[in-house]
Amino acid sequence: MATFILEKETAITNGLQGLQSVGANNICEVCIASGGSCCNECPFLKDKVGCQQRNISCTAWLCGYLKYLLYELDLLTHWNVFWEQVPGQSYRMDFTPDQFPVELQLQIPELPQYAAYIAKDLQQLVRQRGGALIAFELRERLDRQIDRLDLYEPGSRSYKRVQKNIQKLAEPFSQFQQFVAAERLAKRL
Ligand code: SF4
Ligand code: SF4
Repeated sequence: MATFILEKETAITNGLQGLQSVGANNICEVCIASGGSCCNECPFLKDKVGCQQRNISCTAWLCGYLKYLLYELDLLTHWNVFWEQVPGQSYRMDFTPDQFPVELQLQIPELPQYAAYIAKDLQQLVRQRGGALIAFELRERLDRQIDRLDLYEPGSRSYKRVQKNIQKLAEPFSQFQQFVAAERLAKRL
């Protein structure tokens, strides 16, 4: 595979565009409004303005909800493989050089309609009594289970067992799952 040089700022722009393409902002809006933002208490977050130090690490990082979205859209492996090439990732900052070699470009198709269903399901969940806490716990549990997929060979019994766990955990995302099932049936996904 050919190697080419990628600029750090281009990687960040591509990552943000990729997240926009899958409509991640729909989910973030609900999450932030219910107090679950992953930027909470970050010194680089300016009230009513947003992040003042967008970096490689925060762009590459996905919470459980976004991991689940990319997993269902079959884009999670591509996302992970792309960011594994990018050096210098840390917590809320990076030590990434201005330029670095990569073999794979990030290519995320325009699929914004799916995230809107997760956002609706999430909104419903947080409206329930104690729902925000349940939603944040679900986010962490999805995160852990989806990460476990990396431990097993795709198609193996263990892998399928983790897939079932994810399916079970994601039951509150019923409108999203119905939409995904309909799109798969129509072969649009
Ligand atoms: S935790 Fe996830 S959904 Fe919430 S703001 Fe961060 S990236 Fe968005
Ligand atoms: S540095 Fe990361 S965690 Fe902090 S505000 Fe920016 S995106 Fe959020």
